[in-house]
Amino acid sequence: MNTGLGPATPSSNTLVGRLRTLLRARDGRLTRELLRSPGRFGLGQVPARLAPDAATGVVCGFCSTGCGLTVHLRGGEAVNLSPSADYPVNLGMACPKGWEALTVLDAPDRATTPLLRGDDGVRRPVDWHEAMSTMAGRFREIQALHGPESVAFLSTGQIATEEMALLGAVAKFGMGMVHGDGNTRQCMATAVVAYKQAFGFDAPPYTYQDFEESDCIVLVGSNLCIAHPIMWERVMRNRHRPEVIVVDPRRTETAASASLHLPVRPKTDLVLFYGLANLMIQNGWVDREFVEAHTSGFDDYARFVRRFGLLSVAYETGLHADLIRHVASLIHARKRVSFWWTMGVNQSHQGVRTAQALINLALLTGNIGRPGTGANSITGQCNAMGSRLFSNTTGLLGGRDFADPAHRAEVAEVLGIPEDRIPRTAGRSYDQILDGVRDGTIRALWVIGTNPAHSWIDQGSAREVLGRLDFLVVQDMYHSTETALAADLLLPAAGWGEKEGTFINSERRVGLIKKVRRAPGQALSDFHIIKLAAHYYGCGDLFAAWESPEAAFQILKALSAGRPCDVTGVRDYRALDEARGVQWPFPAAGHDPAPQRRLFADGRFYHPDGRAKFVFENPRPLAEEPDAEYPLLLLTGRGSVSQWHTQTRTAKSDVLRKLDPPGTRLEIHPADASALGVVAGRWAVVESRRGRVTAKAFVSPTVPRGQVFLPMHDPATNRLTLAEFDPYSRQPAYKACAVRVRPAKPDDDRPEPADGHGPRRAAGAVAAPWGGRDSERTS
Ligand code: SF4
Repeated sequence: MNTGLGPATPSSNTLVGRLRTLLRARDGRLTRELLRSPGRFGLGQVPARLAPDAATGVVCGFCSTGCGLTVHLRGGEAVNLSPSADYPVNLGMACPKGWEALTVLDAPDRATTPLLRGDDGVRRPVDWHEAMSTMAGRFREIQALHGPESVAFLSTGQIATEEMALLGAVAKFGMGMVHGDGNTRQCMATAVVAYKQAFGFDAPPYTYQDFEESDCIVLVGSNLCIAHPIMWERVMRNRHRPEVIVVDPRRTETAASASLHLPVRPKTDLVLFYGLANLMIQNGWVDREFVEAHTSGFDDYARFVRRFGLLSVAYETGLHADLIRHVASLIHARKRVSFWWTMGVNQSHQGVRTAQALINLALLTGNIGRPGTGANSITGQCNAMGSRLFSNTTGLLGGRDFADPAHRAEVAEVLGIPEDRIPRTAGRSYDQILDGVRDGTIRALWVIGTNPAHSWIDQGSAREVLGRLDFLVVQDMYHSTETALAADLLLPAAGWGEKEGTFINSERRVGLIKKVRRAPGQALSDFHIIKLAAHYYGCGDLFAAWESPEAAFQILKALSAGRPCDVTGVRDYRALDEARGVQWPFPAAGHDPAPQRRLFADGRFYHPDGRAKFVFENPRPLAEEPDAEYPLLLLTGRGSVSQWHTQTRTAKSDVLRKLDPPGTRLEIHPADASALGVVAGRWAVVESRRGRVTAKAFVSPTVPRGQVFLPMHDPATNRLTLAEFDPYSRQPAYKACAVRVRPAKPDDDRPEPADGHGPRRAAGAVAAPWGGRDSERTS
């Protein structure tokens, strides 16, 4: 007898045999699904149904770690992928997002055709000619009426360097825009300013090998375990029994795994670092030789930190004085100390000075330029570093300054454009662009690969502002993001894996992405959409040399010549591929061919005197302290290894959604929960002065008393946050605002379960989830 699952065997004629066959069929559809065959191309065993006929290496398109992924190809199309064992970043490892990178390309809410809103308010599919001529016409019309500054762009750290450079050049040099910024303002602006002021150039000095070579690793505001899991794996490979010190108000996954956790009161880390510096200087634990030879401003700094006595620092930070003393002695005693920070520092009202307080600690102890050391900012997005150098937003192309006539002349010469086309100022930052929309000086916005209606701080206000625009163009892979739903014109873009270009990761490694899939429908690469925009606007001739991403890469090389980020020694994409990524600098003459390189081994920094500067300033209070009405402090941060930023891509994967089930979760301390009547697993309402969120209570001592935590990827979180900014970097301070919490009542809203494919939509016309601008017809 055959069970239908496979052929009968002799033993299947007995009752026991039949039962066995029912339980374990030796052939059939399910069994064949499990069969493995040699993968070739060094892939070991792969599922037989996915056996590739070729393989190629690319870098991952989610986070700034920049892991190498081997894409398995069949007939030129990607069928699967695996982490690359020979890539120096990840050494054969990948996090769940990387493993699922192909899945998210197949989502049903991919944008496949341009959509244009008509006079009746309804959006309909149009061809590229109509889309681009309308965009160019509207931009020109608005600029003619309100001046060139009335059109601006908001871009992303998720597109290739060649694309963001072309965008910045076309928008500012071709279309006459003055204002453009990117979502890197939300993650890295603080590190950029901190490095520029301290080192003279935006230059993260490290290589990932430093995680393995440190004997003391200080992680500040970084939940490395889940935010950068492959970097944490590099820490785990460290054979020097390092002290791992985590400075974070929450007992995060990383803090729980560390040898020492310093649960500072939120935003008192600056006070802690000044106090540590004072203690070390008082004890004579200063690398005098290094400080005298390679830094400036130390004496003023030493005088300044005297006011941060141990007891007052202990009182302000909430840490025991003995613990602070112990940390200072550890930093002194260890030979290779590395200081790492990410969003807990950057997204603060005094982020720049906090980052510089860490840089100061590295300088005064001489922990820079040697293996296992450094003042090391970890980036967020896959190409944040590319954006910092080449987006042409805050800085002129190649890490230059718009205000510097010599820099403008260099760029004009490389690009072959008239110098007077280059603005003399950097233009407005992201928050100031939104202010411009609010006050009517900016009337049209071109948003590329980012989702401000979800991710911008104080979401209600941001959405109200976006609703005021005369013309909103959104260029995105998906038609379903909160911002895409509001667009007057939606331009369908290819995603990672559907186009080529380069990303630059946290350790300055330039890596390659390749086209291993066809983009769906009429979607085009961002590079080609921007080329079309230039053509229809009438400035295409200025950018004729930007023929392809690889031609653009040659232009970027020329722009980098003689700069700290010089990559003129990289011949072309093929050379980049063969080298498994190249860290800058890599000049044509005299480059170091080592695959792992750090900066400042010679003690020379980028200021004209070759010295690094101690930069410091008195700490400032929080803009919104808890009070009687709103007695708790809301912290936000990454809540899961499997979700990425606004979940635009990661929510499309069933696997990733299973790893982090949808739904807003509020972390609250058991004592606070008990005092407020909040019960684990039940609904609670979190309110700030700006909005309200209903969330399931997750009662846990991982968050201290008086504080609560919401994950930043949840669409509701930014209803609560306060629009406060670091004064130097204009980076939003997402991490702290006052809230109150109560158990939900029966008539409180409950969040609708998300299906991962964007906000719910009815057939035909639907409203944007946040009201106002949108009604849509897609057929
Ligand atoms: S750690 Fe970052 S770069 Fe590496 S696989 Fe995960 S998302 Fe991709």
